[in-house]
Amino acid sequence: MTTTAAPHVPHGSGAEAPMPGGSATSAPQPVPSMGGVTGFAGIRRVPAPVNEPVRGYAPGSPERAALQARLASMAAERVEIPLVIGGEHVTTGDVAQATNPCAHREVLADWHRARPEDVQRAVAAARDAHRDWANWAWEDRAAVFLRAAELLATTWRDTINAATMLGQSKTAHQAEIDSACELIDFFRFNCHFAQELYEEQPLSTPAMWNQMDYRPLEGFVYAVTPFNFTAIAGNLPASAALMGNTVVWKPASSAMPSAWQVMRLLEAAGLPPGVINFVPGDPKPISDALLAHPDLGGVHFTGSTGVFNSMWETIGRNMGRYRSYPRIVGETGGKDFILAHPSADPQALAVGMVRGAFEYQGQKCSAASRAYVPKSMWPDVRDRVVAMMRELQQGDVRDFRNFVGAVIDERSFTKISGYLDDARQNATIVQGGGADRATGWFVEPTLVETADPAYRLMCEEIFGPVLTVYAYDDAKWEETLGTIDRTSTYALTGAVFANDRRAVKQAMVALRHAAGNFYVNDKPTGAVVGQQPFGGARGSGTNDKAGSKLNLVRWVSPRAVKETFVPPTDWTYPFLGADR
Ligand code: NAD
Repeated sequence: MTTTAAPHVPHGSGAEAPMPGGSATSAPQPVPSMGGVTGFAGIRRVPAPVNEPVRGYAPGSPERAALQARLASMAAERVEIPLVIGGEHVTTGDVAQATNPCAHREVLADWHRARPEDVQRAVAAARDAHRDWANWAWEDRAAVFLRAAELLATTWRDTINAATMLGQSKTAHQAEIDSACELIDFFRFNCHFAQELYEEQPLSTPAMWNQMDYRPLEGFVYAVTPFNFTAIAGNLPASAALMGNTVVWKPASSAMPSAWQVMRLLEAAGLPPGVINFVPGDPKPISDALLAHPDLGGVHFTGSTGVFNSMWETIGRNMGRYRSYPRIVGETGGKDFILAHPSADPQALAVGMVRGAFEYQGQKCSAASRAYVPKSMWPDVRDRVVAMMRELQQGDVRDFRNFVGAVIDERSFTKISGYLDDARQNATIVQGGGADRATGWFVEPTLVETADPAYRLMCEEIFGPVLTVYAYDDAKWEETLGTIDRTSTYALTGAVFANDRRAVKQAMVALRHAAGNFYVNDKPTGAVVGQQPFGGARGSGTNDKAGSKLNLVRWVSPRAVKETFVPPTDWTYPFLGADR
């Protein structure tokens, strides 16, 4: 094992952040403990958050030229990604490669896998850092994340967008709305929501002062992140850390380049060593070790339902070991629907279906993957969707004309191909259906029609560019509402298209528990922090709404403090007196 120094920027030192893409060579600076010392008098307020504007990357724009230049330089870099434990960059020699899904022979990074001893060291580093970080004034913690947001909005934007495009096959627009805008929004809005939470204090009287101390959890938080959103990868460890917790973060193996850049961004923003420990590697042994640890304070997970269920079961089996009941937060899979009423606008519906199903190759947890269209509308809507699909260009995301890139990896390519084979045999492929693995993991956007509303492709999460449509009898609108509600074990997102307001109301009532994010005359994807707090119920997760106050509540363990100014000095009560 070798360890190298992390590029820490001492908090408040005014030092320049290392330039994105530079090498990590500077020595860690000892920073005096700030625990319990505020050094400031005044009630501070964080800057009011505003959603980060989305850049357009139109031909000829300066942002397009800058991003293209960063894509070219990053593709030539082949970075080495270490673990980060207590601020130390740790290389283990057990190395895996991160490749470009659009060009799978192109190696972007070599990343080191954690060994059992690294996992234990990460817990120890989190525990050591907790003593100090948990006692920082919350405004000082917020400053780290506000600075990270501003760095990401400026000098780091191209680096993190380029890493997301190359490593996860996102177009410039999909990378921009995820790894730049949404992550910036998470950092800024979480500080605002934390302030709102801390401001909530109990009633007091002149004789007593009641206070709520929003303590962080006592143990460490284990953050496990998915491949499909760089913003989620950054937010899961950061939101818990903002509330004073220390974290062991296991990023997804298939999104290492962007996860690494997010870790470096946080270091550049002044995050102290050990607050977030970056531990990539084989998920099973890492999870088994962390979920068995007595100091497990919480799990912050986003990913598939099966993995989350297995983690919850492990926690259940380990119940006797823990010092506290772990907080378990998990946002998981989806089988997201679009429902059209006969009064729907066919063009708006078709656009919602195409964008909702095929942007980012259908690899959004919110992606539309089943649609219910009245028979009277279906031929018209089908033709519109097919015409749009024929115009969608697919290929390497470095060619900005492409709307669709590759799916994430071989496993995903094989799984989706299996669903396409099934559709060829048991349904009708209306458009698409092809898959080509020669240079990248390319699966064609595919429209499937089925006469069976319980067909596999209407029920199971595929996580690829496949939309299956069931054309229902116009007279069976109400029955169809019931079918949608019962078809899937998930309840993440859903959309209704209708011009008839009574139909909207009916759908809102009948599908109340079928989606945690419900859209009226809009596609079911594209939730914005602060505007549509995100999360689903049933098999889609604990619905703790990432990027909202509801989520932050899970990372604190409040202590109610009652202070009586003049305590009683007589133990008796008036009722004890004898009747006269
Ligand atoms: P995944 O479940 O394969 O992986 C998620 C994370 O869990 C990764 O870090 C992975 O390494 C880890 N993991 C895998 N096996 C594990 C195990 N046995 N123990 C512990 N950790 C393990 O999911 P993915 O492919 O990265 O992401 C896609 C899934 O995430 C889809 O199901 C999608 O719907 C879901 N998702 C949900 C939301 C939401 O907000 N509800 C958002 C994004 C993604």
